[in-house]
Amino acid sequence: MINFTKFERINPEKRDVLKRLKDYDEVYQVFGKHRAREQSDRCMQCGDPYCHTGCPLHNFIPAWLKQTAEKNMDLAFALSNETSPFPEILGRICPQDVLCEGACSLNTGHGAVSIGAVETHLNERAFENGMKPKFSPIKGDKKVAIIGSGPAGISAATFLLRRGIAVEMFEREDRAGGLLMYGIPGFKLDKSTVERRINWLLEAGMKLHLNCEIGLDKSIKEIEDEFDAIFVGIGAKKGRWANIEGEDASNVHLAMDFLTGIQKRNLGNTEATFIDVKDKRVVVIGGGDTAMDCVRSSVREGASTVKCLYRRDEANMPGSKKEVVNAKEEGVEYIFNVSPNKIIKKGDTAVGIEVLKTELSQADESGRQRVTIIDGSEYLEDADVIIFALGFSPETPDFFEDANLKTNSWGGIDINASYQTSNPKFYAGGDCNRGAHLAVTAALDGREAAAQIEKALA
Ligand SMILES: Cc1cc2nc3c(=O)[nH]c(=O)nc-3n(C[C@H](O)[C@H](O)[C@H](O)COP(=O)(O)OP(=O)(O)OC[C@H]3O[C@@H](n4cnc5c(N)ncnc54)[C@H](O)[C@@H]3O)c2cc1C
Ligand code: SF4
Repeated sequence: MINFTKFERINPEKRDVLKRLKDYDEVYQVFGKHRAREQSDRCMQCGDPYCHTGCPLHNFIPAWLKQTAEKNMDLAFALSNETSPFPEILGRICPQDVLCEGACSLNTGHGAVSIGAVETHLNERAFENGMKPKFSPIKGDKKVAIIGSGPAGISAATFLLRRGIAVEMFEREDRAGGLLMYGIPGFKLDKSTVERRINWLLEAGMKLHLNCEIGLDKSIKEIEDEFDAIFVGIGAKKGRWANIEGEDASNVHLAMDFLTGIQKRNLGNTEATFIDVKDKRVVVIGGGDTAMDCVRSSVREGASTVKCLYRRDEANMPGSKKEVVNAKEEGVEYIFNVSPNKIIKKGDTAVGIEVLKTELSQADESGRQRVTIIDGSEYLEDADVIIFALGFSPETPDFFEDANLKTNSWGGIDINASYQTSNPKFYAGGDCNRGAHLAVTAALDGREAAAQIEKALA
């Protein structure tokens, strides 16, 4: 160990740009065993590791890096799965630069250990060798309902089933996985990785009800009567419009409608609504990860040009830096410091978007720079398709009121420190409480809520 002077940090290899534009397969290759050992060997084995603190799940990172470097792959696998419900998925999609790797002691000067890539490698290698996560046989007669099958729901189900508590999951879509299935594109996360985890939960005894929307196909009253505890993990994916003139045009769309249509088509669903951008000039408004996923999907769909318009500058983009680099490599053009003003239409169809140039003020006490519009700076960006990726609002279905689930200041489900809602039988976590956030924090919420539910049912 401590070989960071001998080996430099290496990122996983990326597929060639021309090849990756032809499909939705993952861009990053999984480390081979020699590379994974060498990269793990760079870890300093800090006594009080910052990476562990930077990871929302507080994974035992130095411990599994040591076992990987020393070829104890069974132990590395067990340690990695102890705290995480799906480490091979989070190793792929976490923004490590602001989490574990951002906090790594080597990050200042030598280059952080490639934690996410090793995490994915050690689990994929274990699966290749026939290893699987362990669950307990169901004991007792208590059962828990999980509403929503995204990372929060999957995590809650995983930790409850590990403790031998029966689980039934309810999902309104035709496939489980939430945004892991119908949000994050395949070039970041292969859908088979999500299905693999769901299948293990089914093997462990979980009952899964697809195409079952709580509040519509089954009432919340039935759920409350049938189950001893309920975990709500319904996400927050109601897209935001810009509220500008002309956005009712037929070729102006919300990001999730665009992304979900592609992913459903890729999974063989011929009936799902699909937004065709082939040979069209696509303009995406927004600067976060969802906008990056839209522009990178557009180039794969054969758009003639793809532009990403963002009202701040590149340094202030909220998304993962590596995805911006990937998008540029794939031919996306960025236009910074512009704000949408109105959609220009011909009849019912948008032909472009009028934007205003912006400038950023000096940073305030919080470090954030305000956006100021430059008067008289408007100009037209031609477009055949316009996609808004401007963030998400919570969904507040009627069942919140029916079950007495109070909401917080932004409209998400209110919970206490024990993940309990205003109705003590109901627990909640993930985006429906935090607002649009990350898969890893949804996983944390599911894990912690499961521990609280276990305590309450004991
Ligand atoms: C395009 C995009 C890209 C992203 N990329 C990343 C990334 O690279 N890395 C990262 O960490 N995070 C990423 N995120 C964020 C991450 O996906 C979310 O934070 C995470 O999925 C939230 O998990 P969740 O379980 O709370 O909700 P969700 O994943 O939204 O799952 C909620 C589930 O509940 C279901 N549901 C809703 N209402 C009902 C009901 N009444 N009855 C039954 N089922 C219901 C929904 O259909 C859905 O399947 C991305 C998000 C988007 C939109
Ligand atoms: S879960 Fe995410 S933050 Fe935690 S170790 Fe894995 S990649 Fe890093």
